[in-house]
Order: sequence, then structure tokens, then C-alpha cells
Amino acid sequence: MMVTTHAMAGVAAAAVLVSVAPEVAVAGALGAIVGGVFPDVDLFVGTHRRTLHYPALYWVVAAPALGLAALVPNAATVAVACSLTSAGLHSASDVLGAGEELRPWERTVDEAVYLHPADRWLRARRIVRYDGAPEDLLLSVAFALPGVVLYSGSVRYVCLVCVLVATAYTLVRKRVPEYVGRFVE
Ligand SMILES: [Zn+2]
Repeated sequence: MMVTTHAMAGVAAAAVLVSVAPEVAVAGALGAIVGGVFPDVDLFVGTHRRTLHYPALYWVVAAPALGLAALVPNAATVAVACSLTSAGLHSASDVLGAGEELRPWERTVDEAVYLHPADRWLRARRIVRYDGAPEDLLLSVAFALPGVVLYSGSVRYVCLVCVLVATAYTLVRKRVPEYVGRFVE
């Protein structure tokens, strides 16, 4: 799935704060955006969907962080808790997408995301056929809605930018391998 889908899924989850703890809702949403993007930094360092993707282990730290944020709700505790939860959601939901390959619609790789405690890759379920598929864009837009409607200022702005980026990426997605090839040359 696109990184925008992951970031917006985090915001959609954090948006519950708008009604339960509005004073920390912005901190939560911004934390969720950072945490939703963070695992995909391993596109550039280490092994993608393995080095910074922890479909199980993020929850081990996210659970106590959420507990602490509930007991001591301030901008810092809420941002950290939302960030870890969003990174956990990102890592776990990558299993619903395609395998890690340049042209995922060709379905030659089944390895979706690495499960460290079991020391093996989880198999791609392909409910979202590939990153940048129309259904992936639909998810990005749907998850962005709470951020656009319930928030103002920076959170709304980031959500709108994510929708624009996701739309542009979806439009050119099948030509990306060609661009990458040219860039590498
Ligand atoms: Zn990912």
C-alpha cells in the first residue's frame, strides 16, 4: 500500500481524539502521520519491509505507550503513542498488499512483510493488489476524510497534500518501473 494510505490510516485512528481529548488531537494526528510514514524509510536503508517494519513488535511498545497516554495525556505522550500505533498498523497491514517487487501486478514475489519473532516473511494477501492501485487510492482518500473534515490547519493541510500525492502516484504507477530504470542508468 502507498505510504499515504498508511499515514492517513493513522490519522483516521487518531481522529477519535477530536471527541475524547481535543486538546491533544493535533499532537496525536501529527504523531500518527510520522509513525505511518516511518517504516517505509527502509526503502532507502536496509531491507524494505523488514528493517523498520515490525508487524508484531511495534505493539509491544505501542500498548504501554497507549496506557501511559491514557493516564498522563499530554502532547508528548499522545504523539508517541499515536506514532507507535500508526507504525504498528502500517507494518501489520502491509500483509494485505502485494509482495515486494518493482512490478507487483506481475505477482512473482509473495513476501509481503517480515515477521521478526517467527524469523520469516508473511505471505502477501493482495486484497489491495499493488501500491498505487485504484483501491489503494480509494483507501487513502477514505482515511484522509476525518483529517480533512475534523481538523483544521496543519493536519488538514497534510491530509489534502497526501490525497494529491496519492492521486498523482496512482496515475503514473505503472510507469514507475520505467522511470526507475532510466534513473538507475
Ligand atoms: Zn510499508
